[in-house]
Amino acid sequence: MEPTRKRSFWAWGWEDALLSDDERAQLAQMVGGLLHVEPPAVTPLPTIERARINAPRISVPTGLEDFCDASDRARIEHTYGRAFPDLVRGFSGDFSRAPDFVAHARHEADVATLLGWAAENRVAVVPYGGGTSVVGGVECAPGERYVGVVSLDLRAMDQVLEVDERSLAARIQAGATGPLLEAQLAEKGLTLRHFPQSFEFSTLGGWLATRAGGHFATLYTHIDDKVESVRMITPKGAFESRRLPGSGAGPSPDRLVIGSEGALGVITEAWLRVHRRPTWRSSASALFDTWQQAVDAARRVSQAGLFPSNCRLLDAREAMLNGVPTGGRNVLLLGFESADGPRDAWMARAISCCREAGASEIEGPAVRTMDERASRDRDSAAWRGSFLRGPYLQSALVSMGMVADTFETACTWDAFDSLHTAVTRAVTDVMKRVCGAGVLSCRLTHVYPDGPAPYFTFIAPGTHGALLEPWAEIKRAASEAVIANGGTITHHHAVGRTHRPWYDRQRPELFARSLAAVKRELDPAWVMNPGVLLDE
Ligand SMILES: Cc1cc2nc3c(=O)[nH]c(=O)nc-3n(C[C@H](O)[C@H](O)[C@H](O)COP(=O)(O)OP(=O)(O)OC[C@H]3O[C@@H](n4cnc5c(N)ncnc54)[C@H](O)[C@@H]3O)c2cc1C
Repeated sequence: MEPTRKRSFWAWGWEDALLSDDERAQLAQMVGGLLHVEPPAVTPLPTIERARINAPRISVPTGLEDFCDASDRARIEHTYGRAFPDLVRGFSGDFSRAPDFVAHARHEADVATLLGWAAENRVAVVPYGGGTSVVGGVECAPGERYVGVVSLDLRAMDQVLEVDERSLAARIQAGATGPLLEAQLAEKGLTLRHFPQSFEFSTLGGWLATRAGGHFATLYTHIDDKVESVRMITPKGAFESRRLPGSGAGPSPDRLVIGSEGALGVITEAWLRVHRRPTWRSSASALFDTWQQAVDAARRVSQAGLFPSNCRLLDAREAMLNGVPTGGRNVLLLGFESADGPRDAWMARAISCCREAGASEIEGPAVRTMDERASRDRDSAAWRGSFLRGPYLQSALVSMGMVADTFETACTWDAFDSLHTAVTRAVTDVMKRVCGAGVLSCRLTHVYPDGPAPYFTFIAPGTHGALLEPWAEIKRAASEAVIANGGTITHHHAVGRTHRPWYDRQRPELFARSLAAVKRELDPAWVMNPGVLLDE
């Protein structure tokens, strides 16, 4: 059935949910005030008819016509992910890197046929899930060595194939988006409980290929923790691991596939650990006058063995940008949920951790059950609304010629203060130098007993036609500061093409050579997503 809603060809999300001109005008005023600059001009949004697209270098070969599409619309829609440079190029109508055609695999046989043909003919294959990559993961620019590029869209493979209710596990096809797989699991009262901010559009295969992080702040944060077994089709054949709750049998085959970013093969399905749907939830928020106190509280909660589902710390500016009313203070949002009964004692202990760290005010806890539609505490509700709307605001800022993006990392608690200080200084300095102004905010999206995952947002004034250079300078300064201060180049956004220079420095050289050897074994013609993770 033809979907009734269309995704924007250039921006985040649904076309009908993009900000209206009035909303963009209000945003322009708000941003002008925030940056102490003239509000940016509200220019018209682009139309697909004006998109400029390259001529295809190859056409759909005989035998593959049934599931391949070389239309301009399909090629445009598969050109980019949704990183800042993608939004900028999409807004300007530049689709000069469109794939030559798009293959919509209906089943594994289509995947195997396409990979066999691509390897024989030196055609690069870019696996495509929801196209929400923010690191150039689905960008089709493999270079002269290839005669063409095909984007391999997995979204027709979107079924929950089996559920093992006794073991609490489900076998799910890789092309299922968050809403589709949750709806199928909900029929059995189950949930995967993996909710990245891109949940609405991203797919299980994309999550596995990028080691995505859900928005739950502790314990089951990465998709890695949910994987019982995976199945991947490579140019050399199928690779499938055994379903096990745990195993000490040598290096884990799952761990080779998870995070492989389409460079080793195409993940077609996986068995995942699922949960009974929670029946009980509670939320609270703690306000702190200083960032130091708030960080201390987050660390105390994370080290108390409580494992809240939400433990998200927003600095004062981040709270303001997200419409959480804190009166200029930092706020720690706490949430617990369970399918087994109240967690009052856990929440009480988390609140006492906040008091010990110097909280100036506690709101909540607000308790809800599935039957009661009692509201969340005010701060959590404001945060959730803004979390879902945030990506639309970024696209609107791009449409008004602003430099606006996020980056994230993780480090141990002992390194956090110096990393936070260095990143703040580096990004603030470069924004001032190249953009004349700019603001930076920070939140902790995930907390582990041994360290947090800080997530930064920056907004600076820019000019249409010259947005990519300042963005690249800011990104470079941030990445250098992260790597120099003990962080990882990515906690959950993946490596892709954008993070390669810093990933190459972060990983051990011998590991890089071993990974390349594995790729040569599974993909001897080197056609799988060339350019991500490693070079030939
Ligand atoms: C607004 C926004 C919010 C985001 N929030 C989060 C977040 O909260 N947490 C998070 O972790 N990430 C987040 N991301 C990043 C992105 O959503 C994730 O990386 C996600 O896992 C990508 O899934 P996808 O299905 O869209 O994959 P795609 O973007 O289509 O692909 C991503 C990479 O995986 C490869 N790939 C995709 N499917 C397969 C497959 N079946 N087999 C092999 N390789 C495959 C692609 O080739 C590419 O290299 C966000 C992005 C945006 C734009």
